[in-house]
Amino acid sequence: MAKDTNDILAQDAHLIQSFADLNALKQQGARTVISRAKGAYVYDSEGNELIDGIGGLWCVNIGHGNEEMVSAISNQLQTLDFYSTFYNFTHPAAAALAEKIAQLAPGHLNAVYFGNSGSVANDSAIRMLHHYNIRKGKPNKKLVLSRHGAYHGSTHLAMAMTTPGYSEGWHAASELVHHLRSPHHWREGGEMTEVEFLDALIDDLKQSIERIGAENICAFIAEPIQGAGGVVTAPAGYHKRAWEICQANDIKYVADEVVTAFGRLGHFFASEDVFGMVPDIITTAKGLTSGYQPLSATIVSDDIHEVISGPDGMFLHGMTYSGHPAAAAAGLTNIDIMEREGIPERVQTTGKQFENNLRGLMDIELVGEVRGSHFMMGIEFVKDRATKASHPAEAQVGLKVARACQKRGLIARPLGNVLILSPTLIMDAPMIDQIESTLRDAITEVA
Ligand code: PLP
Repeated sequence: MAKDTNDILAQDAHLIQSFADLNALKQQGARTVISRAKGAYVYDSEGNELIDGIGGLWCVNIGHGNEEMVSAISNQLQTLDFYSTFYNFTHPAAAALAEKIAQLAPGHLNAVYFGNSGSVANDSAIRMLHHYNIRKGKPNKKLVLSRHGAYHGSTHLAMAMTTPGYSEGWHAASELVHHLRSPHHWREGGEMTEVEFLDALIDDLKQSIERIGAENICAFIAEPIQGAGGVVTAPAGYHKRAWEICQANDIKYVADEVVTAFGRLGHFFASEDVFGMVPDIITTAKGLTSGYQPLSATIVSDDIHEVISGPDGMFLHGMTYSGHPAAAAAGLTNIDIMEREGIPERVQTTGKQFENNLRGLMDIELVGEVRGSHFMMGIEFVKDRATKASHPAEAQVGLKVARACQKRGLIARPLGNVLILSPTLIMDAPMIDQIESTLRDAITEVA
């Protein structure tokens, strides 16, 4: 190992990683140091070139090292390094990005609250709805319906909305959240057809509302496709039907598009263009700046905006870096690049090709299901295909396949028995083929 890497790892002993087995990371060779990146590739501290098969963390949509982004951020810092959007202050970059997002977002979603992570975007959505309902004279309308398999972030409330089992016992606010059934037909549908399973999911939603009381529920929150829960696509028509029930019960539908927005599924936003519904709130982050700056947006409907900006006092919610100038400049330039280069449109073809190629891996016995859409894909490994029996956690099959991929020049993300692929959106046909053949070799090695 080069001296450089050892020095970095010695310093890294002071860094607490996210979602990691911190004990296992003490082992020699357990950590990878990523030193630089360009386009679809990253380079480790040993000089190895790796295809970034997870787009940073579902976020580097336009690719790494884009010089236009670097200039835009740098120019912004030279003009106005920082000012807040507290009280009566605003600044040109935050204002312009809010207007741009309102133009791109569907229907009546025209007002934006900026944060700096997806977790904060989701917390902000629920806080805004609490404030909204208090103003509407419904102070008890505070509970949230979420789903098994969801991932909504790591603040206390966002983790409470995340699937039970993620960090059981060490998050507050769980009393605010009720979890509905997982929408995963292949794992949870038993003998039901997809259509029967859809009906069962909708019944679960209806019965939960009846039991808890619509007067106590402020929101239903759902990812259009569950990401960190293993890339789970709900049965066709699920989101629209859930939204109709929410509308009928005065429950706001919050679409968590932290991953699915900004091109990953071939559109700026997936809710309307892919799933045929306009939610009351969309939360997003990641691809909004392609990861060049931390930024999230909670995009709310005219109705919510009107009520919270009514004459009855202050909006008591704020983060110092809400709408940070450098992050806003990154968002504006990122969207400009995406529009100019037609990235979402291109993904409709290249993403579909990626999806189809990965579905071809079903001919390997270890692969139980390949799922997802476009550049948001998951591969689940099974011990027995007929029974769908899983490998025990200690077999670490996902991790073994990910390591076999990395050895061959591809970063993929293991999540238990599932391998996640969410590369940059600038993949061309040869790169897509290369990812497929690397996966095939790596899975075959572990099988
Ligand atoms: N929502 C979804 C769907 C996510 O996938 C994530 C993160 O992966 C989050 C929220 C949380 O975002 P962040 O990690 O920026 O807080």
